[in-house]
Amino acid sequence: MNDSIRLARIAGIQVGLNWSVLALAALLMWSLGSFFFPDALPDSSAALHWSLAAIATVIALLSILLHEIGHALQARRDGMRIDGITLWMFGGVARFRGNFPSAGAEFRIAIAGPLVSVALAAAFSGGLALPGLPEAARDLLFWLAYINAALFLFNLLPALPLDGGRILRAILWQTTGDFNRGTTIAAKIAKGFAWALIAFGVVIFIRFGALSGIWLVFIAWFLLQAARAEARALVGRDALGDLRVRDVMTRAEAVFDPSTSASAFVDRTVFSAPSASYPVVSAGRLVGVVSSAAFAEAPRDSWAEVTVGEVMRPIDGVPVVEPDDLLADAASQLGRGIDRLPVAVDGALVGVLTVGALARALGVRAREAAAG
Ligand SMILES: [Zn+2]
Repeated sequence: MNDSIRLARIAGIQVGLNWSVLALAALLMWSLGSFFFPDALPDSSAALHWSLAAIATVIALLSILLHEIGHALQARRDGMRIDGITLWMFGGVARFRGNFPSAGAEFRIAIAGPLVSVALAAAFSGGLALPGLPEAARDLLFWLAYINAALFLFNLLPALPLDGGRILRAILWQTTGDFNRGTTIAAKIAKGFAWALIAFGVVIFIRFGALSGIWLVFIAWFLLQAARAEARALVGRDALGDLRVRDVMTRAEAVFDPSTSASAFVDRTVFSAPSASYPVVSAGRLVGVVSSAAFAEAPRDSWAEVTVGEVMRPIDGVPVVEPDDLLADAASQLGRGIDRLPVAVDGALVGVLTVGALARALGVRAREAAAG
């Protein structure tokens, strides 16, 4: 999940939005402005209904952000590095680097988010006790308490990668003493839950024609894919062990300046695979990635004018890894049209991680294992 917009740093943690969060905001606005507030305040104007809907939507998104900040702060306390928090279609994601240091750490990090949500639910319901509150404010507080309670409960479902799934995995990891066994069992349970949620969403949609049924199916489908990814990542982690990116990264075959023309680019890359992508460096800083495919879209007679800088993917939209990253984590970013990742330290390019180098590392590991 990449940030489309970087918002701010909160307590040193980068917070961003992915465009897909607009789908969530629109769904909340629509259901609040068209149904919840008109039902609760039938004598008020549509302008008030929509104003309340907008306020409630913003505070709901802030509540999701606080939930993720809860995870991130606890992760930092447990010595993990945090890449950032992104709000998107299905809520929030806090991204950590590396593996959880222990079962206890994973448990504490996983439970920190739901604890924030339940505290917010309690605070908003506490607000309802204030004397002399206008009806509109009561309805707003009620819905905010409800949505935070729902966030609390939903996230505690024991389905990886939801918080409840992480708590379950941490407990299984602790009791079996085996991270892999814990993950395998937790991923199986997660898939079962995801299928049950899909069935439940379909029933809600058929019985009530409610859009929330469709949304539930979407979320469950995402959960199913995520649970499969957790199980897959485990296979890679097993095979790659504690290898780091620095152990297999190579020097970039070619590095381009943003001012390079299309014809100069083609001259240097004509013998490489069309899918190959190259780092673009300006004044010592990695600024993007360019591939032959990007130029292929520009008409040939314009190649003299088009430059690398105009067709490259800017660095904000490109996954970048660091030499100290675990190879298993970096490997999960390869594939799906990305055949190499730039490796950078503090914005300066130090090498590339290619699918070929990864395959060789896997091959070496497999032979080592066969040799005992
Ligand atoms: Zn959470």
